[in-house]
Amino acid sequence: MSNRWMPKKNIFKLSMLCLMLSVFVMLFSGYVYAADKRTVKVAFFPMDGYHIVNDDGSFDGMDVEYLEAVCEYANWQIEYVVCDSWEDALQRLSEQQVDLVGSAQYSYERAQLYQYADLSSGYTFGVVAVNGDSNLAYEDFTAMENLTYGLVEGYVRKAEFLQYLSDHGIDAPVCKEYANTAELQAAVSAGEIDALVHTFTEVREGQRLIGRFAPRPFYYITYQGNDDVMRELNQAVADLKMQMPELEYALMNKFYYDRFDASVLLTTQEKEYIREQGVIEVGYLDGFYPFSYEDKGEFAGLTKELLEENLATIGLGLSYRKYETLAEAEKALAKGEIDLLSYCPDSQETLSTYQLKRLCEYAEAPLVLVTQQGTDLSKVKELATVSYLAQKAGNVIDQTKVKQIIYETQQECLRAVVLGKEDAAFCNGYLAEHVLRSGIQYSNLQVENVLSGEYSIAFAIRQENEELWASILNKSIPVIDSRRVSEYMLKDSTYPLLTLNDFIKEHSILIIALLLLVMIIIIAVTRHIINDSKKIQNLMYKDTKMNIWNLNYLMFFGENSILPERKENYAVVYINLSQFRRYNVIYGWSAGEKVLVGIADMLKKNTDKKHEICARDQGDRFVLLLQYADRQALDARLDKLKEDIEESIYASTENRMKVRMGIYFIAPEESDLRLAITYANQVLDFMDNEKMGEIQVYDATLEKKIKELHARERLLEAVDINQNFVAYYQSKVDIRTNEIVGAEALVRFLDPSAGGMVRAPGFFVPYYEKTGKIIEIDFFVLESVCKMMRRRMDEGRKVVPVSCNFSRMHFIKPGFPERFEGILEKYQISKNMIEVEITETLIIEELQYNVVKETLETLRARGIRLSIDDFGAGYSSLGVFEQIPASVVKLDRSFLLNQKDRGRQVKIMRGIVKMTEDLAAQVVCEGVETDDDVQLMEEIGAYLAQGYYYSKPIPEAEFEEKLDAEKIK
Ligand code: C2E
Ligand code: MG
Ligand code: MG
Repeated sequence: MSNRWMPKKNIFKLSMLCLMLSVFVMLFSGYVYAADKRTVKVAFFPMDGYHIVNDDGSFDGMDVEYLEAVCEYANWQIEYVVCDSWEDALQRLSEQQVDLVGSAQYSYERAQLYQYADLSSGYTFGVVAVNGDSNLAYEDFTAMENLTYGLVEGYVRKAEFLQYLSDHGIDAPVCKEYANTAELQAAVSAGEIDALVHTFTEVREGQRLIGRFAPRPFYYITYQGNDDVMRELNQAVADLKMQMPELEYALMNKFYYDRFDASVLLTTQEKEYIREQGVIEVGYLDGFYPFSYEDKGEFAGLTKELLEENLATIGLGLSYRKYETLAEAEKALAKGEIDLLSYCPDSQETLSTYQLKRLCEYAEAPLVLVTQQGTDLSKVKELATVSYLAQKAGNVIDQTKVKQIIYETQQECLRAVVLGKEDAAFCNGYLAEHVLRSGIQYSNLQVENVLSGEYSIAFAIRQENEELWASILNKSIPVIDSRRVSEYMLKDSTYPLLTLNDFIKEHSILIIALLLLVMIIIIAVTRHIINDSKKIQNLMYKDTKMNIWNLNYLMFFGENSILPERKENYAVVYINLSQFRRYNVIYGWSAGEKVLVGIADMLKKNTDKKHEICARDQGDRFVLLLQYADRQALDARLDKLKEDIEESIYASTENRMKVRMGIYFIAPEESDLRLAITYANQVLDFMDNEKMGEIQVYDATLEKKIKELHARERLLEAVDINQNFVAYYQSKVDIRTNEIVGAEALVRFLDPSAGGMVRAPGFFVPYYEKTGKIIEIDFFVLESVCKMMRRRMDEGRKVVPVSCNFSRMHFIKPGFPERFEGILEKYQISKNMIEVEITETLIIEELQYNVVKETLETLRARGIRLSIDDFGAGYSSLGVFEQIPASVVKLDRSFLLNQKDRGRQVKIMRGIVKMTEDLAAQVVCEGVETDDDVQLMEEIGAYLAQGYYYSKPIPEAEFEEKLDAEKIK
């Protein structure tokens, strides 16, 4: 997600978000695994910017990013269904092949056919655009009267376009029509027409807008009756609109506006106004840190930065004038002494009395309650506040018990609390933090409670020149988001020490005699102040659960402090645990949390606080920014850290979890920490998929592999099980008679991106095990097998028992036996016709978990046949037989391969065969390829073979032919 996405939040929201996130991650990292995510199929039709296919085949675009955000609120995973066109998408929607189609504008007819989301997910509108080098201004209707416009034939907004011009006095514009967008674009490039008229998504890079009309919201639609999906979508979209109000705008910006000429769209009149004004007089107030205050006799703060960054670029000069109070400044503005009041917390109601107008809000600040330390909030009787916050304060206190006392400024409110005149002050959180750390007299105060209130800051102007001035300001001034505020304040964190110095200087003569004593007090007090100011920082930058910095802070501190001052090399190291998710599922998240707290503590202990930093990202992921003199030393250090963490986890949980590390070495000239972090994180993502060493470095080879993997994952995410997977069958043969006595179903993926190429499980099973989709695939295979059997039985043809592979995922949660039986019942297949294959490793590794034991026990009790797959490949534990009631044991191919000491091998295998027979189980040899292998089987007395010698896994129809032929050879 890009930065522009960062919603406009205040400290409180941010901190709440952190808190919620950590709780959410705790709950969720376990929960996701356990709870089935809903797979929602979304039509992916060609539409520039809205749907983009990257070079590597992955999907991108406004829709994709929007849905990513939706998934944060709905327990969904998205599967994209590629459609040829918008019409194709609608067709598939009516056939219920997809759940959602995006970017649908409302029409009555369509609403009869499909269900619309309650709320829109974006806007489109018509635009008039010209080449970037044109000197036409925005909405200059005098000039627009004489233009030649180009449109595509049948353009849906044509009537509205004509209406738009007509509303502005242009009644008969010259229009030319073109067969399609490409021709239209060619015409405007060639200068055949002056401007093109089209939907804004069709405008090309570098072109400039000179008019906009007919804005219309668009929505997601689904088919009638798909109520659950629609309900969840409505909820998520509503949440998004509240939590990330800028998302839609940010996405439009990212995928569309950024392609346009970015200069502010000013009309001729507006440009003229700016030229006439030349320099404007701006009124400012002191005491509204960090926005508007005075520093060394001059205007300072974020408001000033905002004005200078944005108004200078459109050619306005700025001159500043200070006012002592808000009322004075408002009067001055009304009188025309100034053109703009730069910081105005007053409401429009108050401003109207002066005939002033409040403009769009450009920032928000949190509201807090400040008390003396140790104050019991329930005992607060009097609350100091300022007039413009009185109403908000009224909302958060019990007005029957607490009396509000109105002061002139927020600083006075705080002073009243220091002096004990009032019990508490209600004020701006940023300002409170600033005041608290600005002088020791405030050291006994505390920010008692961060309330959910916030107040917004805007410009004020005179109503009389509202029209032009307001539109110029609204167009050119962006919003200051909370991230920018926190960065501003953190950069200013040397403040308390400076003030202390000032204090000492001012009082030096008086305190010289008591210097020592005062020094001690100062040190103690400074700590106090820093602690207090840190409280707010902590809320923004700490993972409060783990008491460790969060990724935001690591990024901030790394980029602003560590990297610019580095003397050594640095590496980003991402850390997680290979077994954590499973542990979390089985033992619950509070047990998981304990493990994580332990890791956080160890990481903190192992980093040098001055030059390094460690933080938690989310879930079990931690990040370190470490310095190193040479690679060897770093390797040794990481090895040791890995070992220590693993040992300590084992000591406290008796579970062996492996620490994995992804490393990115930051080059000496490199300063983009965000990117470095992304790379190191990707290494971990990659390690989730591939079986490889537990410490990996990000390098060119890995980069290539990661890219390939990403492309593959996108593909696998998008495909439909029913369409792209099939069951292949490999026969099991009695070597004495060459008769087919059974088969194993093996799943295959028909890769649509490679012309339907048949892919073996290694290509997709690891990814689907990660996402949980393997469960659906396994049941899909089971169902295919049952269908085939039922058909053959109905036709009176031969059937043999078939084994199906089931992933370990089925066994760590309840419900498997019921679903399994449900499918068999549906097709009326008897239980002795299907075997459940589970690998030996699964049994050994998971048997410690009760839920796995219970499931296996239930299977046995219900007479479901179990087959131990790959026996001998892993632990070769004969004890497995005692632990689980298997009907079949499949000897792994490695037995046949191990021919070093044939005599001994035969003995061992005979033993196994004997024992299995004693337990009334069958033995199947896997991977039988040669005459030799068959001979060995005879020697050991095992007669059921599965392997290429008899048949490879083959498609259903081929297998059925073989089965009809009775004998395989
Ligand atoms: P598996 O269950 O041990 O399946 C046997 C594998 O050995 C198959 O590989 C098969 O093609 C291969 N094989 C059979 N005969 C010979 C032989 O003579 N020589 C050699 N070298 N190999 C032979 P495949 O189909 O690639 O499947 C690999 C693994 O993927 C399977 O091992 C199984 O663990 C997993 N798998 C396959 N289908 C499913 C499924 O539907 N669900 C799940 N969860 N896993 C599946
Ligand atoms: Mg198998
Ligand atoms: Mg096997």
